[in-house]
Amino acid sequence: MKARLLASLIVLPCSFAFGWGQPHHAITRGALDVLPAWQKNLLGDELKKLGDLYCMIPDNVFSDKENAAYAKMESRPGEVYLQILHLPTQQPEYHEVIRYFMDKAVTAMREGRTTDAAKFMGTICHQLEDYGSPSHTVPGDNQFTLLQQFLPPSELMNDKLMHGPIENGDFTVSIPGYQPILLGTNVDEAAWRLMHRVHEGILNARSTTIPIMQAHYAGEPETVVKHQLRAATMDAKVVADAMHTILCLGANKFEEPARNTLQQVRIGTFIPLEATSLYYPQTQFFSSPHWGHPRSGVILAGGSQAMPLKLRLESGDKEFANGISAGMGKPLTFLLPKGVYARFTVLAGLHPELGAKGRVEFTINGDGKQLSTIILKGTESARLMECDVSQVSELQLLLTSRGLDTKSNYAIWAEPTLIKK
Ligand SMILES: [Zn+2]
Repeated sequence: MKARLLASLIVLPCSFAFGWGQPHHAITRGALDVLPAWQKNLLGDELKKLGDLYCMIPDNVFSDKENAAYAKMESRPGEVYLQILHLPTQQPEYHEVIRYFMDKAVTAMREGRTTDAAKFMGTICHQLEDYGSPSHTVPGDNQFTLLQQFLPPSELMNDKLMHGPIENGDFTVSIPGYQPILLGTNVDEAAWRLMHRVHEGILNARSTTIPIMQAHYAGEPETVVKHQLRAATMDAKVVADAMHTILCLGANKFEEPARNTLQQVRIGTFIPLEATSLYYPQTQFFSSPHWGHPRSGVILAGGSQAMPLKLRLESGDKEFANGISAGMGKPLTFLLPKGVYARFTVLAGLHPELGAKGRVEFTINGDGKQLSTIILKGTESARLMECDVSQVSELQLLLTSRGLDTKSNYAIWAEPTLIKK
């Protein structure tokens, strides 16, 4: 293990190039273990190689020339080592990379090239695992120089590079009983849903980084592993979802209940493009109705007190778990998989008590063009907005004050939903 790490230090162009080492194998094996029997049979001899070899392809592109092509993109001919397979950049870019390699794997599977498919799947495993690694969670600070300024090391870890110790350990990952989720019935849908799944993995991994650092400082190796396993377990679930979905797509075999759940998707918890590096909700400050930021699932009274999302309907007031509250003049933009969904619906309205004196224009834009707009007063019932998004790749929600009492513009987008037909 050490030899491999040393070798990658010598040949790789960037000092932060290593991801999970041994854990890549452990996470991949844990994920493959929960695939249904027919999928394991479909992979045959390649199943074991995925965990033993292929999940390391993107790290070994200089030493393993035979397999380097499986971690390359036609659109980036000069790049042998694709940094984006190890570190997330921004949504549109890594969304395309996820889509590209998923398409490669599915196409190979459909053409009966199982070995090729498994190698591309290995590249995808690696990318998902690196994105969900506790060492890859702080954009631009992979050696934790900045984090160590915030969290000064004990004598034990003084002057030590933190990347390797934070993510590497000798552990097995197992997720018995986990049922992998079908993420789509075509590549565009599956890659887009997988990206949102990975976002959950990244945020989960971020919650492990500091506890791992503190455990290192304190010289508590069991605590290090405990938190590493929190990240690795989540990663195994994401990898299981991805592998399961690719094999369903490759074999064109979908279980009916799973397929039905994909008919529509609520996007109120998804990360918008404005939240660069997933810094949601902090990137979109607004000052009206109060100094605040968009929130998923709650609305902030006075800019500070979280309350349930609530709207007035014809049938009475109703609370909503999936939705977004936002301020005036700050758009929220969501990447859509083009051609997958036909319609977008959302309940627009003002919070019945907080927003009683407000008046807000709700606008839905698609690729810069207005699709739908309404003006609502706080005393009116919420309204269902609906638009055709079949040709839209960026969906934008925008609020504009249309009243005098701007402090009452408590606007809510409830149950924003993409529907296939
Ligand atoms: Zn890596």
